[in-house]
Amino acid sequence: MSAPSPDTRKFPPTPEFVAQANLSGVEAYKAAHKRSLDDPEGFWGDIASELTWMKPWDKVLDDSKAPVYEWFVGGKTNVTVNCLDRHVANGLADQPAILWEGEPADETRVLTYGQLLAEVERFANVLKALGVGKGDGVSIYLPMIPELAISVLACARIGAVHSVIFAGFSAESIKDRVMDQKSKLVITADGGWRRGKALMLKDIVDEGVADCSSIEKVLVVQRHLDKEPFPHTWNDRDVWYHEIAPTVPAECAPEEMDAEDMLFLLYTSGSTGKPKGVMHTTGGYMVYTYLTSKLTFDLKPGDVYWCTADVGWITGHSYIVYGILQNGVAQVMYEGAPNSPDESRFWQIVEKYKVSIFYTAPTAIRAFMKWGDQHVVKHDLSSLRLLGTVGEPINPEAWMWYHRLIGAEKCPIVDTWWQTETGGHMLTPLPGVTATKPGSATTPFLGIDAAVLDEDGNETDRGILAIRKPWPAMLRGVWGDEQRFKDTYWCKWGGKYYFPGDGAIKDEDGYFWITGRVDDVVNVSGHRIGTAELESVFVEHPAVAESAVIGVPHEIKGQGLVAFVIIRTGVEGEEAVWRKELTAMVDSKIGKFARPEKIVFSADLPKTRSGKIMRRLLRDIAEDRPLGNVTTLADPSVVDNLKEKFKA
Ligand code: ATP
Ligand code: MG
Repeated sequence: MSAPSPDTRKFPPTPEFVAQANLSGVEAYKAAHKRSLDDPEGFWGDIASELTWMKPWDKVLDDSKAPVYEWFVGGKTNVTVNCLDRHVANGLADQPAILWEGEPADETRVLTYGQLLAEVERFANVLKALGVGKGDGVSIYLPMIPELAISVLACARIGAVHSVIFAGFSAESIKDRVMDQKSKLVITADGGWRRGKALMLKDIVDEGVADCSSIEKVLVVQRHLDKEPFPHTWNDRDVWYHEIAPTVPAECAPEEMDAEDMLFLLYTSGSTGKPKGVMHTTGGYMVYTYLTSKLTFDLKPGDVYWCTADVGWITGHSYIVYGILQNGVAQVMYEGAPNSPDESRFWQIVEKYKVSIFYTAPTAIRAFMKWGDQHVVKHDLSSLRLLGTVGEPINPEAWMWYHRLIGAEKCPIVDTWWQTETGGHMLTPLPGVTATKPGSATTPFLGIDAAVLDEDGNETDRGILAIRKPWPAMLRGVWGDEQRFKDTYWCKWGGKYYFPGDGAIKDEDGYFWITGRVDDVVNVSGHRIGTAELESVFVEHPAVAESAVIGVPHEIKGQGLVAFVIIRTGVEGEEAVWRKELTAMVDSKIGKFARPEKIVFSADLPKTRSGKIMRRLLRDIAEDRPLGNVTTLADPSVVDNLKEKFKA
């Protein structure tokens, strides 16, 4: 079965790229993919053998407890050994691991692999000194400073289970997560910077953990906000990192971890409801993030990689900390915002560090388009050789902008579809293999059996995305809620296949196109319309920066569509004219049946703190309901403005 491509443009990798890639050519991919599905134990066993284990596994895959699949059963390792010790032993001690750029432009730090290992060992010993041991829960609420990566790795070093809470979250979100995990310790900083403003992180933590009886200590890293007025209180349980660190031993041997010991908990971003505490274990996650990093990003010695996500999201866990460090390359870590001090900061950083691989989110790309090309073109971006995106479907217009302006029409773009739950890339172009199409996450990664199915589990060209075989980095559960784990991911096709909750199209070349959340497929008079499709049409309009489309109940059609549209900065015009033009575009590109009932022009959209549009809140607004869970909403004032706009 196949559907026509939503966008038929095709961009094969250049012959120069193919010639040097870690995996080259469609034939090599097909052969490797076939073997990975026919003989998963052989395939994953070979990959795992490239890494260091304290004891080899007895069995690669145990499916006897499905849907909890176990990988590398009986194997013992510690992921920090593969991130750090292995490189130091192989002569990379003096190679840069982290090139840190603070938000204040004059503040920088470089950590080599040798220095990073030393910092992790000391931090690990501090945790031990504070009574943290294997299996204990540690919550981390830090800005994007090296100590964020260091503390994550320090937990892994001693087998403590980390739960990173993005440092933009409120006290209430901290409380929810700390209570859910029953963490023993919180790691935070006196503060952080965001667009020149001091964030009082310690104060937020104090409020968040005030009623959390599980918390024994609050470990505070000094981010020099003592330069600022220092308003917070100091409690008996508080410990300065810089005071305790010199009192502990420098060396910390890695804890021997079972492949299935928990590595971390991470809460999903809450786009579709209350966040879920996703559980990841050691061995499978380690092997999968190692291989996806190596192949999707084509990592090589000498690369300077930069992922703009925060370590507080799964993207930062897998593709700043674990996967990237296992590959031993240098990476930029940036504390601040893309528009501080001005809208060219990212491109200035790319130029300064000669970044070769750049990974960001569609929401950021759309913001750059909105701010204008002038911020980009004044910088030398010629060091870039590969670009990536993650987080949401990317509209073809934004893809083309990225390709032309950032990638100079020569860099492959890897549009990586995956989730907190999947641990690593699932659908993605491989840069030395795949001819990309703007807006498509293209084909499954090695070991991934992806399909587009209908409700009954039959293959179709337009339906629901399914993963039909287990993979090493898959989630092992939802913390404390086995029933939610089964109901959310395993009830769709009788427990046989993993259900990610996203809709997809499979085209004539076998490429996958994510059409949005299954909840976001709208049925207008019997026509199934993915909201992402309509949004892509709107974004083609030269005045439009971003849009979000939702379905609302409709007496005659069953469901109708409402579109929220953001106009680019500095563009003048009349709403009535835009409305007419946008409607005409829908008519010609999709059909009259897809015309929205209402087009609302607004200044902003409700987004999660990771930058994703929260369509469920737009539905609440359109249907005049009380708002659902808003703990992950970035800016609550956006919602009030929209309510007024909607009623007008
Ligand atoms: P929650 O599960 O709490 O609603 P969330 O799904 O936003 O939150 P994440 O795990 O961060 O939390 O996001 C995964 C989702 O992001 C995917 O299911 C998909 O909808 C979307 N996504 C990620 N990458 C892509 C991509 N390249 N193309 C299309 N969609 C993507
Ligand atoms: Mg999700």
